[in-house]
Amino acid sequence: MKTVYFFGDGKADGSASDKNMLGGKGANLAEMTILGIPVPPGFTISTDVCAYFMQTGKYPTELTNEVENNLRQIENIMGQTFGDCNSPLLVSVRSGARQSMPGMMETVLNIGLTSQTIPGLIQKSGDERFVYDAYRRLITMYADVVMEKATDFETREGEGIREKLETHLENIKLKKKVKKDADLDVEDLKCLCKNFKETIKAHLGKDFPDDPYTQLWEGVGAVFKSWNGKRATHYRNIEKIPSEWGTAVNIQAMVFGNMGKDSATGVAFTRNPATGENKFYGEWLPNAQGEDVVAGLRTPNPLNESSRIGDSKNLLTLEKNMPTIYAKLDVIQRRLEAHYNDMQDIEFTIQNGELWMLQTRIGKRNGVAAIRIAMEMLESGMIEEKTAIMRVKPGHLDEIMHPTLNTDIEKSFPILTTGLPAGPGGASGQIVFTADDAENWHNNGKNVILVRKETSPEDVHGMYASEAILTARGGMTSHAALVARGWGKCCVVGCSEIQISAIDKTLSSNRTILKEGDWITLNGSTGNVYEGKIPLKAANLQSNSFFKKLMELADKYKVLGVRTNADSPIEAKQALEFGAQGIGLCRTEHMFFNPERIMSMREMIIAENEEDRRKAIMELLSHQKSDFYKILKTMAPYPVTIRLLDPPLHEFLPQENSQIQELAQALKMSRNKLDARIEHLHELNPMLGHRGCRLGISYPEITEMQARAIFEATAELIMEGITPYPEVMVPLVGSVAEFIHQRKIIDSMANQVQDEKRVKIDYLVGTMIELPRACATADEIAKEAQFFSFGTNDLTQTTFGLSRDDIGSFLPDYLEQNILAGDPFQSIDEDGVGSLITMGVEKGRSVNATLKIGICGEHGGDPESIHFFQKSGIDYVSCSPFRVPIARLVAAQARAG
Ligand code: ADP
Ligand code: MG
Ligand code: MG
Repeated sequence: MKTVYFFGDGKADGSASDKNMLGGKGANLAEMTILGIPVPPGFTISTDVCAYFMQTGKYPTELTNEVENNLRQIENIMGQTFGDCNSPLLVSVRSGARQSMPGMMETVLNIGLTSQTIPGLIQKSGDERFVYDAYRRLITMYADVVMEKATDFETREGEGIREKLETHLENIKLKKKVKKDADLDVEDLKCLCKNFKETIKAHLGKDFPDDPYTQLWEGVGAVFKSWNGKRATHYRNIEKIPSEWGTAVNIQAMVFGNMGKDSATGVAFTRNPATGENKFYGEWLPNAQGEDVVAGLRTPNPLNESSRIGDSKNLLTLEKNMPTIYAKLDVIQRRLEAHYNDMQDIEFTIQNGELWMLQTRIGKRNGVAAIRIAMEMLESGMIEEKTAIMRVKPGHLDEIMHPTLNTDIEKSFPILTTGLPAGPGGASGQIVFTADDAENWHNNGKNVILVRKETSPEDVHGMYASEAILTARGGMTSHAALVARGWGKCCVVGCSEIQISAIDKTLSSNRTILKEGDWITLNGSTGNVYEGKIPLKAANLQSNSFFKKLMELADKYKVLGVRTNADSPIEAKQALEFGAQGIGLCRTEHMFFNPERIMSMREMIIAENEEDRRKAIMELLSHQKSDFYKILKTMAPYPVTIRLLDPPLHEFLPQENSQIQELAQALKMSRNKLDARIEHLHELNPMLGHRGCRLGISYPEITEMQARAIFEATAELIMEGITPYPEVMVPLVGSVAEFIHQRKIIDSMANQVQDEKRVKIDYLVGTMIELPRACATADEIAKEAQFFSFGTNDLTQTTFGLSRDDIGSFLPDYLEQNILAGDPFQSIDEDGVGSLITMGVEKGRSVNATLKIGICGEHGGDPESIHFFQKSGIDYVSCSPFRVPIARLVAAQARAG
């Protein structure tokens, strides 16, 4: 096998299209070389070698020869020899995977410096200080990457060899009373190198190698091993990068930015990665080596006027300091962006007034920048519409819809704990431990974060009043996560390391104990939790013209409709602003949790006969009617799918002793009798119990009341000249007979109201498809129903036969052992649940060509699932208001991609 690919002197064995084999860095170094851009010569050891090495623990036999031959080629171009006493060549050993994994992989610079080569390099460069500066850097990187991380040597956080060596550096700077590394003189550096080597020997029990080839080969081995290091493995799991990919290794002639005043190094973006502005943006440091800029040890200088920010405001720009070189760099960056047709992130080094490029790659950018860059590149004709749509990732949109933490400041805060990033954006607040406290504090003008072990529907008012929610238990689809995402609220769940005591009102971690009223800050996009208050940056969509353009473009390409799940007029209005074309799921049960209504609801549930029940229900009618009135009015003329009462009744009953007592008094019922009634309603398996349409079948008066409320509200709106469009949805239908039963009641209510009010009402009656039996008999049901809406949350529960609320205890085992590829409540299980959906769509349409079909449930806002729904032939997806723009974009991507 060919193991090594050369680049240098305008020619290369590979090119940008060989990313899989050469890794991103290697492929782009080859490409830049072919483009005639100055790149120090080098070669890439392919990812196949990494795979071979991981499988067998050794290198392919041909590798040694190929590496030596390629090294000779570098030597020829550079006029230097690796390990030579007079004119030594130094190289860097750089990792580079297919997909960039920033900060995860390792690099060692200045390989080849030994007691033999040092005098030669001093002689040639005439700069002893530079050589010892390079040497101390080599020792530090080598000890850290090769001698420590790549071995199984376990060090505790903060006690690694790098920290130990850096302490020496700090101490010597203190002793000499200087601030910058660059202010140390040659004697200081020599002394440092000696101390470094002694510390390495004492701490790691081995000598720093004084042989260039040992340094080279061990460096290569360390990069390969770093692929399976803890940090890289963790990152791969999050980013879903397959571990088989492996990394490539790049070996490249060193160029030195630390050779004095006319040398420098820098990192730049062809456009501003934080704002998207089309201005060359970057940082540089005079007399420094590559990693100094990224490591943040010194505040880098701004590249040009448009790069001035914060700390660097008054520092010298490259543009001013080295105008000719800056001009060359500017030409190259323009050329690279035009060549790749995307914003590039580049690294460069200036050695004695000569410019060298060391890396180019697609630049990471935040949400605001991603949208602006895509739209401006489209406008300038650099990319076409479909490409522009694909350039913005769903996460970018998620990001711009919420206030986010000021990342510069966030970096300086210690992390208190980390949980799952359940609701995006950032939030700061004072912690409270009960929903009622949250509401009270909020009403007193405080910003609060509700901290709970886990949340339940009874906490909803407190969750609403909070800036953010933090729970110790639960996963990405726990109650807290669902509710928070629905509102676009910041939320971190499953912080299993912390203890929460609602009684003592404390939150304790092994680091500290926080009390009620203490400030914390959450980053709902990473799951990090901080003690204290980190400033936020507000989201501002309305004034973002690039966002508007992107959405218009998305609507041009998408065929799937996008509706919203909304239970209140506020949510409906929000969703409309985000471009929803109707409500796909309006749940009615939340409306009953309001304190004024819960009593009537409870009376209805406890009622032992129809008469009592009707009395209680009639009290609810006027409330429901006014709810529906507002929602239908907000959405008109778009459709509103209203689901009839769905959850098991006991969910509405009080849990606490005092509340039960209160209810007994209100009902003038003996406590014993009430307890017995509650006991009677108790179910062993409520998810599969007396719920959904089964309620309306046992108690038709509930369906009557709800249907009447819907149609009376509709009639009133029509009389006001508005055109509401209700779609009445019967939940949890498993057989057509159930549906027919309910539809009769609904139609007869519609007829009654039309007669009473003398108006003609346009409406549909359909069903939620959330049981496998409904899918299997969809052709029967579709003869009677006017629409289907797949309730994919329950359909997933009933297909797998597992409960969403309990999956948390075994899902991690399933994921770890690859039994499930992911949480099926987050992204649709295409093989199982997806097949049932396809079957339901086909059977349904086979008897009813005009059947409207939608998806409601969390999957409606999940990008992966939307790609599937696009294929399955449904008409629309429905998702929470804050997911609507994402669904619009992804629906367009599903077509454009
Ligand atoms: P990362 O992927 O973490 O950026 P790199 O391999 O790009 O790691 O290297 C780290 C730093 O060292 C970068 O600033 C890079 O420009 C610099 N560097 C790497 N190789 C060389 C070289 N041959 N000459 C000069 N600087 C180099
Ligand atoms: Mg780099
Ligand atoms: Mg359901």
